[in-house]
Amino acid sequence: MLEPDYLINNLGDITTIYADLHTSILASIAKHVADTLKTTGEAGVMPSLKKQIEHAQAAGLLREDIIQHIADTIAISDVEVRALFQDAGVKSLAYDNRVYTEAGLKPVAIAQSPTMLKVLEAGITKQNGSLRRLTGTVVANSEQLFERTLNAAYNKVVSGTHSYTEALREGIDDMTREGVKAFHYASGRAISIEAGLLMNLRTGIAQTAAHITEQGIRERGVTHVEVSAHISARTHPSGDHRDHQGWQGRIFSFSERKSDPKNNGNHLQNHENSDILKSRGSDLINVTDKTISDVPRIKSDVLSEHHWGRLQEEHKSLLELVRNQPLGTECARVFDLSMSKQGDDFIGPPGGNSVTVKNFDTPHIVIHNHADGAPISLDDFESFLRRPQTFSVQAISNGGAVSTLEKLPLFSAVDAIHKYNRTVEGVGELVVKGASQTEVESAIESFLYSLNENGFIYRRWTL
Ligand SMILES: [Zn+2]
Repeated sequence: MLEPDYLINNLGDITTIYADLHTSILASIAKHVADTLKTTGEAGVMPSLKKQIEHAQAAGLLREDIIQHIADTIAISDVEVRALFQDAGVKSLAYDNRVYTEAGLKPVAIAQSPTMLKVLEAGITKQNGSLRRLTGTVVANSEQLFERTLNAAYNKVVSGTHSYTEALREGIDDMTREGVKAFHYASGRAISIEAGLLMNLRTGIAQTAAHITEQGIRERGVTHVEVSAHISARTHPSGDHRDHQGWQGRIFSFSERKSDPKNNGNHLQNHENSDILKSRGSDLINVTDKTISDVPRIKSDVLSEHHWGRLQEEHKSLLELVRNQPLGTECARVFDLSMSKQGDDFIGPPGGNSVTVKNFDTPHIVIHNHADGAPISLDDFESFLRRPQTFSVQAISNGGAVSTLEKLPLFSAVDAIHKYNRTVEGVGELVVKGASQTEVESAIESFLYSLNENGFIYRRWTL
């Protein structure tokens, strides 16, 4: 387990690397705005076609510059991410080993555990992948910033209110103040490259450290864990996992994460608090015969009742497909509302914890697995929202549980998007403020449960 301060105090170097990237991108935009404005501005009002060509050429050069800056950054960042993850793994295990030693067990070393090394490698690969996706949005956002800055400055020059130098200076001032964003939300709020990076990295490191802890627990053959307790823990009227006060300091059964009847019926895997271990980062789950036979028959509001049995069969069949892939792979299948399969199997990158599903323009449902047992994610929710013909998104945990999001007849995409944007902002702020992984996961889960009044419904099913 990582101590809470770790994620605040250890990310300095990589933050600097991405701050430098941000600075060099801004410098490139400024240079290309200046060059273009010089050509077009000094010529006075240019014919619009010529102006467009000038702008397009400048945008192309800018794009090349930015891609180069990003490539340079990624090369350094990959080395840094690896060092960070290895350090976090070692620190996290050092903490766990103190607990093992106190309990009279032998300490664990990452280097001696092939499985832990694999977990660490998977964490690094996933992190690098998500940093690459983050920089992809940076390219597009930089180009937009360039366009806006150039057009504003150009209009000031041609309207005669500003000299070329004044227009350029004001444009560059505004552009620098605004900065390049990693994410834009529909509400107009945005997160800078650095904040986006930190948010992403903290999540990745915390999850990987937690996976390593779980692996250690498994390797030591530990069957019960005592959750640490602290004064003034948060409470929540629901009494579910958001209620830290309620579950801290208690003993949970770890093996198979099933309830332990000897322990006052503390269920880890029931509807209310199934995410206790997960929200502290769960491991990748191997699909077994048992998990397949545990897949529950669920109710679906978008399918007629005589298709529910078939749906359960398809959930099981998906896990069969998953079982034949490397651990951590996500697979998806699409069905129309009569449960006829649409298109091929979608299989994500090996161990990548993600899968991309092509869009269908007729009513359909998407089923996919979550290798770490997590319920519907914000990404799932977003694709559910943005695709009007997706009536249901269903996540089948490799452990057998199913969570579903469905659109009901009163579904309003506008309401849903508002709610989604508010949640993403809220989550973004939490992360930027340094909230723990548990707090972030709780915020997402409360959001999903709150959907149930808005014409769509979130449910979680376990046997
Ligand atoms: Zn998903």
